[in-house]
Amino acid sequence: MKQRRHYSSHRLSRDAERVSWLARGLSDSGSRTEDAWWENELALQIGKMLDNNQEEALNQALDRLQETHARAYDELADLIEAGVEGNMQNGPDGPRQTLLLALPILAWSRYSIPARSLPASLLTALRVQLKAHVLADDCRLALADFLYSPDQMPRGFVETRRFALQMENAALSDEDLSIPVTGLPETGHYISDLRYVLASVSVPIGHPMLRWQEVDGSRETALGQWQAQAGPGIQAILPGCNIQLLLPDAFFSAWRRADQEARGYALAATVSYLQAVLDLPASALRVVAAPYYEHRLVEWRISFGRQSDDTVLHGIVWPLLGIEDEGTDVTGEIDAILRQAGVGQILILDQQRLTPEYCDDCGAPLFPNAEGESVHTEMPELENDMPPVHLH
Ligand SMILES: [Zn+2]
Repeated sequence: MKQRRHYSSHRLSRDAERVSWLARGLSDSGSRTEDAWWENELALQIGKMLDNNQEEALNQALDRLQETHARAYDELADLIEAGVEGNMQNGPDGPRQTLLLALPILAWSRYSIPARSLPASLLTALRVQLKAHVLADDCRLALADFLYSPDQMPRGFVETRRFALQMENAALSDEDLSIPVTGLPETGHYISDLRYVLASVSVPIGHPMLRWQEVDGSRETALGQWQAQAGPGIQAILPGCNIQLLLPDAFFSAWRRADQEARGYALAATVSYLQAVLDLPASALRVVAAPYYEHRLVEWRISFGRQSDDTVLHGIVWPLLGIEDEGTDVTGEIDAILRQAGVGQILILDQQRLTPEYCDDCGAPLFPNAEGESVHTEMPELENDMPPVHLH
């Protein structure tokens, strides 16, 4: 689950009570037959709450279960996500199953990474490649004609369901959806970031939706083909960017996996970026990684500088995601990526317990120097083509 607000209210609304009771019932159920009953009741209740804009009640139920009943929390979170991204529709030729998909793209650039409308020619090409390599036979498809930054993605269960419904209606007639660009939030500028194409697939009930649900398909082949066939077209609308296409998948699952992949990608991208703008080999760089705690470990912060001086030039936050905790081997992963990238000196300050600090002026996170103090990044003046880097 994405991070959610916490509510202090003691009493749940009646609908929040019902949905938590059903989730507890499902998690304690003794048979698949009993499961099916609870799941059906939950799906109906969740669908009703999504239709009635009860975002807060759904979050209240999740918050309550997270504190009191971890298994029921997982069941409820799964079923809410399923209710948001999937649906049954009555098409002219019978009932159909739909699923909202996200097609994630990792990107880094020494210039800016666009979030923009997708040209008709690219939509046509993506449609052909998705149907050929990622989706099952006989599906109908809608693509949203916009390349989203994470800040611009639909937020919250209710808003995402509303978006999914529009996409489902377009998918029913195998047509793309035009996204009004006005009203979309501004995109932050980062050296390394994610972009998403959003799609909806619709198949007759009981049919496979994805290529790897067919006997001769696999996720690995689908990913390889997708990268090879769709990569060049997407690269063409992201000039000056290095990109890596991830496997398209159901909306929430693709989003979560992309968030995970983005951390390691940003590390390697930052090494490449600094090599390019400072005209230095990676062996001249020093990277410091330290764990940051708020009661418990919440994130690692990783700073980049030259071995020749103590200035921290750039930093990356590596948040812990999902069920990750102090037992997760984050340092092994960070160390392996930096070694692979050829970084000259890697300092892992795993004995430190730093507290997340931010700049009072600009709100930017502070990053660890080699002595384990949190300091502001200071990037030297470079050419005009830099993404904006905040300096005081
Ligand atoms: Zn600042």
